[in-house]
This record gives sequence, structure tokens and C-alpha cells, in this order.
Amino acid sequence: MSADLRELYQEVIVDHGRRPRNFGPLPTANREAEGVNPLCGDHLRLRLAVADGIIADARFEGAGCAISTASASLMTEALKGRSVAEAEALFGAFHALLTGERGEAAELGKLAVLAGVREFPARVKCATLAWHTLRAALHGERRPASTE
Ligand code: ZN
Repeated sequence: MSADLRELYQEVIVDHGRRPRNFGPLPTANREAEGVNPLCGDHLRLRLAVADGIIADARFEGAGCAISTASASLMTEALKGRSVAEAEALFGAFHALLTGERGEAAELGKLAVLAGVREFPARVKCATLAWHTLRAALHGERRPASTE
């Protein structure tokens, strides 16, 4: 990755970490789940409004480090208007990117800014917390999703 690209990616993460998009309650939600990352202390609650298999809206609340907050912010942006199947596929591509199994894929779009965390294995859990929580919400799990 070039230094310029790395800098641009860093800026996007800082921006979303400081001013998370889609942060707050979602009165129309019909799916929700809680997620915790005990290693870092990240905690979030994700709410989704799903209709006819499409994620119409997604919002989150909680407290965590800049990476977990930025990841949840970028994820909620990416989910809107996608089908549940597309969301699951996106998680697969994102997870493969962060674990170094695969490189950037076009469908990841802005989510690729988090690729740099793969150099810091402990932060991978911060970046994937929102996605594990998404899966728990889609599957209606009652127990909080945990990265551990
Ligand atoms: Zn964290």
C-alpha cells in the first residue's frame, strides 16, 4: 500500500471514529443485538430495520475505541439498501481482507480503509465486532456476540 493511500485510509478512520454516522437509536428497528470485545472494552448495540429481506436502515449505539466505532459507522453506511444475503457476503469479504486471506475486493468500497488493521491482530477484533454483532442480529441470537 502506498504512503498516500495509507494516509487517506487513516483520515477516513479518524473521521468516522470521531463523528460516527448512523449513531443513535432506531425506533423502527425489528432486529437488534449486542456485541462486546472484552480484549479492548468495546461495546455496542446494533439495530436494524429489515423488510422483505432488505436492510432498510441500520444504526448503532455504544462506546469503544476509534477502530470499533469507525468500523460500525462504515458498516452501517454500507448495509443500507442491501439484502441480508449481500450483507453476509460482505462480511465474508471483509473478514477475508482483515485476516489477510484475500486482498481488496471491489464490493468492499470504503470498508477497505480498515485493511491496515491486519498488521495489528489485536485490532482485528475491534474492526470485526460490529460485523459479529450484525450476524447475531440477523440470526436473532439472544446472547451478546463476543469476539472471544
Ligand atoms: Zn477496540
